[in-house]
Amino acid sequence: MLSGKTAIITGSTSGIGLGIAKGFATEGINIILNGFGNPKDIERLRLEIEHMGVSCIYNNADMTKPDEIMAMVEEAVDAFGSVEILVNNAGIQHVSPVEDFPPEQWDDIIAINMSSAFHSTRAVIPHMKKQGWGRIINIASAHGLVASPYKSAYVTAKHGLLGFNKTVALEVAQDNITSNAICPGYVLTPLVEKQIPDTAKARGISEEEVKRDVLLAAQWTKKFVSVEEIAGTALFLCSDYAQNITGTHISIDGGWTAA
Ligand code: NAD
Repeated sequence: MLSGKTAIITGSTSGIGLGIAKGFATEGINIILNGFGNPKDIERLRLEIEHMGVSCIYNNADMTKPDEIMAMVEEAVDAFGSVEILVNNAGIQHVSPVEDFPPEQWDDIIAINMSSAFHSTRAVIPHMKKQGWGRIINIASAHGLVASPYKSAYVTAKHGLLGFNKTVALEVAQDNITSNAICPGYVLTPLVEKQIPDTAKARGISEEEVKRDVLLAAQWTKKFVSVEEIAGTALFLCSDYAQNITGTHISIDGGWTAA
């Protein structure tokens, strides 16, 4: 049912986005890969995805630049005829007390983690309406529902993304287009791994203790979430079983936000 459709996945050269791209490719979905990285590594990933039997093109749009986001959607439509699935996933993190938070980091996090979803969504909706089918998936976070100290920009952007998700869902509800969010707890991707040494130093504890006592402190299952679990949930949201699921979020956080 999803085979032959086309998905743009922002920030898919690494981590969760890459996991979703590979999960989608196994279902026959053509992929627009996006994100930063070494060109040789990105080409290797692109070929790996094509070897799964789908077409995959890479677009290097910077999620802080609305013109580049619009151009990425146009490139996808030119290449594949339409875009049926959009996954707004690109994201960055910066951890700092609010009074020390660098304003340029604030602006980048708001742009990449929140505003880019506005720019990509407004560009794909006309194509989804023309096709009479569309799925928008916003990768938010447990931090879209609850806060943690020192993550003011990230928590703000993810709360905002959930509000945007609900609004879009209502606007396109009768066009066979759904908009939903996934709110993961901690996933061991480069975004999280980068925080471990700094947190260990700041708290004077080992990296293992950071994982167990800090990152997994609120995750009641005491397990990190895997990218495959997120990809599987995204595929479910794209399926016919989920056609009446819209304007909501699915938490995959080991019970974090239940407590
Ligand atoms: P990651 O660092 O592994 O991947 C981030 C991706 O975004 C990379 O492909 C990177 O190149 C891309 N990116 C960064 N800045 C960009 C820009 N300006 N333009 C285009 N692409 C850009 O991180 P991840 O953990 O896979 O995070 C993916 C998403 O999942 C983020 O939105 C993050 O907030 C969310 N999330 C992550 C976790 C976690 O524990 N890892 C938990 C909840 C939510």
